[in-house]
Amino acid sequence: MNTRKVILLCVSVGALAGAGVLTVRHLTLVNRESQDFPDGIPFLCTRPECQAEFVTTLDEMSDYRMKHPEELTMPCPKCGKSDTVRAVPCQKCKHFFPRSLARRGGDVLCPQCTPTSAPAL
Ligand SMILES: [Zn+2]
Ligand SMILES: [Zn+2]
Repeated sequence: MNTRKVILLCVSVGALAGAGVLTVRHLTLVNRESQDFPDGIPFLCTRPECQAEFVTTLDEMSDYRMKHPEELTMPCPKCGKSDTVRAVPCQKCKHFFPRSLARRGGDVLCPQCTPTSAPAL
C-alpha cells in the first residue's frame, strides 16, 4: 500500500467517524426531553393539607406555560393552588418527594422511607 492510499483511507475513516458522532449528538438532543420523562414529569403539592402527587406531560407543561407565562410551576389538580414542586418518585415506596431532597448521584432521601434523616423543608 502506498502512502497516498493510506492517507486517503485515514481521511475517509475520520470523516465517517465524525459524521457518526454528529448524528448521535443530534439524535440525543432531539430525544433528551422525552427520554428523561417517558412517563411524564412528577409534581408534588407542598400544601400540608393536600400533598397531592401528580404527573404532567411535557406537552401539558409547555401548553400551560404558554398560557400562564408568569407561573413557575404547574397548578395542583387537587387543590388548584400553585404550591407545587418538581418531584422525584421514590424507588422504594413509590411516593413522590420534592426534587430538592434528592441527592446528587442518584441516591435519594425519601421522607417517607427515611423520616429521621430527611432535612426539614
Ligand atoms: Zn394541592
Ligand atoms: Zn420512599
